[in-house]
Amino acid sequence: MREVDFDICVIGAGVAGASIAAYLGRHGFRVAVVEKDMREQDRIVGELMQPGGVTQLQEMGLGQALEGYDAQEITGYALFLRDQHFSIEYPGAQTGRGLRNGKLLQALRAELLAQKNITVLEGNAVSLTEADCVISGVQYIPKGADTTATVNAALTIVCDGMFSAFREKLSDTTKTVSSYFLGLLMKDCELPFPGHGHVIAAEPSPVLVYPVSSEETRVLIDFPSDQAPRKGEELTHYLRETIGSQMPKEIQPAYYRAVEEGKFRVMPNHLIPANPRLKAGAVLVGDSLNMRHPLTGGGMTVALTDVHNLADRLIAIRETFAQEQIEAAVAAFYETRYAANASINILADALYKVMSDPDLKEACYSYLQQGGKKSEVPLSLLSAINRDSNKLIQHFFAVAVHGAKRIILPHPTPANISRSYRMIRNAVHIISPLVLSQRPGMFTRATFSVAEKVFA
Ligand SMILES: Cc1cc2nc3c(=O)[nH]c(=O)nc-3n(C[C@H](O)[C@H](O)[C@H](O)COP(=O)(O)OP(=O)(O)OC[C@H]3O[C@@H](n4cnc5c(N)ncnc54)[C@H](O)[C@@H]3O)c2cc1C
Repeated sequence: MREVDFDICVIGAGVAGASIAAYLGRHGFRVAVVEKDMREQDRIVGELMQPGGVTQLQEMGLGQALEGYDAQEITGYALFLRDQHFSIEYPGAQTGRGLRNGKLLQALRAELLAQKNITVLEGNAVSLTEADCVISGVQYIPKGADTTATVNAALTIVCDGMFSAFREKLSDTTKTVSSYFLGLLMKDCELPFPGHGHVIAAEPSPVLVYPVSSEETRVLIDFPSDQAPRKGEELTHYLRETIGSQMPKEIQPAYYRAVEEGKFRVMPNHLIPANPRLKAGAVLVGDSLNMRHPLTGGGMTVALTDVHNLADRLIAIRETFAQEQIEAAVAAFYETRYAANASINILADALYKVMSDPDLKEACYSYLQQGGKKSEVPLSLLSAINRDSNKLIQHFFAVAVHGAKRIILPHPTPANISRSYRMIRNAVHIISPLVLSQRPGMFTRATFSVAEKVFA
């Protein structure tokens, strides 16, 4: 058994792991990174980085990871409902990026390989090691080997992604599969709104379309089921007939070519609220800690916000880096991360559920279409430029009230009053558990607990 000593051991060189290792490495930490596969991956996840995520990378001095591989600037969103559509620009001329996730990871990993105080160990992390109730590092099987090796570190940062093998050991959370995304890559597609994320409010479930390079456009088709769609003639027919007919006509030729080519990728969409358990010597970051529906493209932004938050706390104690200081830094990180990420987390699953309620979906589209603050503020929240979750709650209920008025006026009847009531009740049921899972302040908690009872 080989023993190696580091300040930090990072498990997983994905978006979270590679960026925290790179940032800490630059600040003088001796970092080991255990990653099971350093080769470029062809993934359908993490391909639209919101402006809030871009800002986090830039603030950590890692903005170069967005350069050199044809990432596309995203300037706003376009929304489609049947034959209507409109676009909304990100506020303040801020931009996101459409990119291939594999390219982004290789750019971040190049930074790891270039730093002398970072050691990249290719291998599969299999267990956390523990001494006197403190996690002291990780055991991993180096690539090509059949015995384990050990990394010892003062702090192990677990960033092993959505299928984390260590989540259960370090948190008490629930994991739900909300739906599946089926990903297709379109070539030479003329987008109706170039440089925009396209949200198609299709039936039965939304479709996302955005550029990931100058020649490739990603399509993500939501399947509202807890079972993965099975490849075969039935699925191809569904994609061609049910989904194809709802695609904007500019997109259809490239979409049908991609369907015929048949290179689909399927991924589960999880809801995993963060509920970490404090354990000396280890901390969870990224998807291993917290996941939300990818409809709003918030995952990388949450991961990078958490990376920045935790890393700055570690940098502040680097000189001494004593065990009690590390524990305090991890506790403070877990405590403060809710306020920073609540708006992104709530919006992601709330919007996904709104899309599956016909009245709320219509209300949302019509509300945003009014423009001004009614579209600017929601997009500033989606892009994570604005993290004010009270603003999110305010606009969420404004959508429901707007929808209720549309149903009731100008001719209120018992039937449409009752339909509006059902819609508002549904809105409360959608947002309430999401807000409560983000550990809000006492006042918000009390308000939502009462609202849940009133609309039970
Ligand atoms: C279908 C889908 C689409 C998405 N689209 C977007 C989007 O457009 N925008 C957005 O911001 N977010 C999106 N997300 C979410 C986003 O992909 C994640 O939030 C983000 O990738 C999390 O980063 P991470 O570092 O935690 O995990 P990952 O990036 O998945 O990295 C985990 C790393 O750990 C490694 N690893 C795993 N197990 C081990 C082990 N035992 N030993 C060693 N290494 C290990 C893996 O090889 C990998 O490199 C999407 C998610 C899904 C499911």
